[in-house]
Amino acid sequence: MRKLALHWQILIAIVLAAIVGSIVKHFTTETFAPGWLGVSFVSVFEFIGAIFLNALKMIIVPLITSSIVVGVAGIGSGGNIGALGIRTLLFYAVTTLAAILIGLIAINVMTPGYVDGRPAGDILSLEAPANDISERIEGRGAGDVVELFKRLVPPNIVMAAAEGQMLGLIFFSILFGYFMTTLSHDYADPLFKFWNGVFNVMMHMTEFIMKFAPIGVFALIAAVIAETGFAAARPLANFALAVLAALLLHSLITLPLLLRFIGRVKPFATMRAMSPALLTAFSTSSSSATLPVTMDTVEEKVGVSNQVSSFVLPLGATVNMNGTALYECAAAMFLAQAYGLELSFGVQFTIVTIALVTSIGVAGVPSASLVAIAIILAAVGLPVEAIGVLLVFDRVLDMCRTSVNVWGDACCATIIARLRGEKTNVAIDAR
Ligand code: ASP
Repeated sequence: MRKLALHWQILIAIVLAAIVGSIVKHFTTETFAPGWLGVSFVSVFEFIGAIFLNALKMIIVPLITSSIVVGVAGIGSGGNIGALGIRTLLFYAVTTLAAILIGLIAINVMTPGYVDGRPAGDILSLEAPANDISERIEGRGAGDVVELFKRLVPPNIVMAAAEGQMLGLIFFSILFGYFMTTLSHDYADPLFKFWNGVFNVMMHMTEFIMKFAPIGVFALIAAVIAETGFAAARPLANFALAVLAALLLHSLITLPLLLRFIGRVKPFATMRAMSPALLTAFSTSSSSATLPVTMDTVEEKVGVSNQVSSFVLPLGATVNMNGTALYECAAAMFLAQAYGLELSFGVQFTIVTIALVTSIGVAGVPSASLVAIAIILAAVGLPVEAIGVLLVFDRVLDMCRTSVNVWGDACCATIIARLRGEKTNVAIDAR
């Protein structure tokens, strides 16, 4: 019992949280929220969940900086880094596009935006709570391309770190690591030791924090269930099903095929190895907050070298969001259907393109997709308020798409490591 693997502990925590959350929800009325000494259970769950999330976020800045500096400085100068960078970006672009197309097909085939052959707009727009949308969208990081490039080169690195502008931090760290390789040994060696030390401390801190994951996850999920429950409306339930089907297809077929045939690794062994990170993504709905766990798992369980993971994963947590891109496309298509918009090739092409670009700019935090969906809706001429109807299911779908985001990053890291000749723990043959 004491040696139960972490992912089992987390899974049990999720199930218990669903049960406890629904009990609390059941007994909560407008005037009566069960609890002790006047403190409601929900606020206790939220408090514990927030501490767990904060602990994960606390290590992100030193972790990203040290891991990239060590990774880039370790790979050495010149061509190598270039090749790694190009491969990574290519892989990210291809898998994101594949995910979007799967989302597009799922919505076209399952047509959740129609009820009995008619656009479901009437049913849905009645329920749209338009008021709190702007509030939820604010500060989620824009999908604007020009902004994206500006954020890549931040005017002040400390401010970028303080504001969680990861792209700027990543860019700075890559430059730092690269220019370390141009120094003489006198300077380069102590610098390398220092950053390597910081990196190792951060990994140990991650492992320490993850010991509390079952408690943190329990609190986060119980709070969600106690507040929103499992309630559902019909067209939305169909939409949620279509999204889930598409997410499953992408993670259980597309990505495993790439793992199997390009990476020559066992896809499901890789998935099992990654399970602590996938479950953390599921319960936090934030790929940024999950990053420390993703790095730890990819290195320790999957067996990818630090050089690859330290470059591929922080970048991936920021720019590679398979699940998010799929969701953006599916959500925009669904609303377009519900409004009875004619889904010409042009409209669909616009949706796919913007989903691809905006998924790069979206921050890895809960509900971040909503801002990108707003951009798509505006581009195809639909009222942005329509996002309101998505809020019903946003949290649950967010949990799922965030896991897919992290899974996509992990697959990329594994495949790239294999292409560089690394053995890993999940290879099909030892060749
Ligand atoms: N929550 C997602 C993430 O952190 C982003 C989103 O799709 O809302 O990866």
